[in-house]
Amino acid sequence: MSAGSPGLWIGNEWSPSASRRRISIENPATEEVIGEVATADRSDVARATESARRGQAIWSELPASTRAEKLHDLARGLRERQRALAEMMTREGGKPLRETLDEVEWCASCCDYYAEVGRSERGRVVPGVGKHQISLVLREPLGVVACVVPWNYPLLLLFWKVAPALMAGNAVVVKPSELTPLSTMMLADLFAALPPGTVNVVTGDGDTGEALVSDPLVDCIAFTGSFETGRRIAAIAAQTMKRTNLELSGNDPFIVFADADVEIAARGAVWAAFLNTGQVCTSAKRLYVERPIAEAFIERFVAHTRALRIGNGLDPQTDIGPLASDRQRARFEAAVEDARGRGAEIRAGGRRPPHLGEGYFYEPTVLTGVDHSFPLVAEETFGPAAPIMVFDGLEDAIRKANDSPYGLGANIYTRSLETAMTAMERIRAGTFWINEPLTDNDAAPFGGMKRSGIGRELGSEGLAAFQEVKHALIDYVIEAKPDWFPYGGR
Ligand code: NAD
Repeated sequence: MSAGSPGLWIGNEWSPSASRRRISIENPATEEVIGEVATADRSDVARATESARRGQAIWSELPASTRAEKLHDLARGLRERQRALAEMMTREGGKPLRETLDEVEWCASCCDYYAEVGRSERGRVVPGVGKHQISLVLREPLGVVACVVPWNYPLLLLFWKVAPALMAGNAVVVKPSELTPLSTMMLADLFAALPPGTVNVVTGDGDTGEALVSDPLVDCIAFTGSFETGRRIAAIAAQTMKRTNLELSGNDPFIVFADADVEIAARGAVWAAFLNTGQVCTSAKRLYVERPIAEAFIERFVAHTRALRIGNGLDPQTDIGPLASDRQRARFEAAVEDARGRGAEIRAGGRRPPHLGEGYFYEPTVLTGVDHSFPLVAEETFGPAAPIMVFDGLEDAIRKANDSPYGLGANIYTRSLETAMTAMERIRAGTFWINEPLTDNDAAPFGGMKRSGIGRELGSEGLAAFQEVKHALIDYVIEAKPDWFPYGGR
């Protein structure tokens, strides 16, 4: 049996897929096959959603305090397995170990957060419209939630969905990415502590994902991934009015004003651009620097980029791992070549690292002489590219930042409160980072405007995403009302 792959996790048991088809999982740093998983077909998905239906009936009946304790248990279990889970995520996804260790801790803290928020929240009471009346606004579970997850943060983006969905009393069926399912399969023994059917996991590719989101027993779809897939899922969901929470693509601006500390801003920008090899939905993908400091900033940015160490993420000295797959690298490489062909100046990188013969590596690449007519700038390039452009003043920065169909995040470096606040109010982005790139907060919402999605994860909004709202009006004196029939005093 290969790593983490005894089959599908349905009703707290492993079972084979009907298709018997398997997917091989590759380590992108070595190109070795490190495991395989089953491919769930429509009948397997139906078994999983039926199991979730049964599980939800039991799980939702448990008191919120008991569900909260179970989430704290999940958090403890994640911390106990932190190293093993992190190493698996590094092996299947390529991300440096430092980043995957952090990721496991963030998953645990998300479970703790929702345990605390959810145990004390059920809704609100509002004044009635007549005498001796009150209105209860109740929050109820939706039922069965399909959680479809991408490969760039396999466990974090799973727990941002599963933790609030469970706390709200739902059962879930998880579909991890076909590139990174092995770390998810390692969670089965943790999920086994919940009532059977509360958490089910079906592995497979986009066909499995589509079977899941189309399944009639699914009440809500929580999806993180590309805009194209999100659009398709929204169309499927519209057929039966399934609730959706869609966290989609981004093309985030990173703006540095002339009053910023050039050295700190350059280091922050290098991290924001190249963290996880530039494969973060909120990576800094379009960098704008104010004209008076442009050359100084670019010089420091290039120097810090050249100092990054590229290699296998299991080596603790590695800053930059490989891209997640051969396909991702080919797509990224084509975008850089296209920019080169259009006259971009490559100030660092722009090639595969010559010392690494195996693995899907590509050097962090700094480009100047580019503008919004370059596809590498205008489209989401999910890889280690930092196109740097110059701007003149606040209005120009805001205009350039907003010149994108996406609105996930935005970063700004400035010492001026007026500049920061004006930009914050006028740039259309779901998260706005001032002098601190890419930091999330469990207690504050995360998500996108425009084509970057619908809905929010994290915070109280992230719990509400998995709750239905019901209004119950109570009159505690039983009497006939004067505004009923018959009219006209008959
Ligand atoms: P993707 O859309 O190709 O796949 C995401 C998941 O959807 C995978 O599990 C895949 O198997 C599944 N899927 C594919 N086709 C499907 C279909 N027709 N129906 C249902 N499921 C289907 O995205 P990816 O390449 O895995 O991830 C990269 C993308 O994710 C980037 O665009 C990135 O910006 C985005 N992303 C967004 C956020 C966010 O919070 N906004 C976070 C991380 C990544």
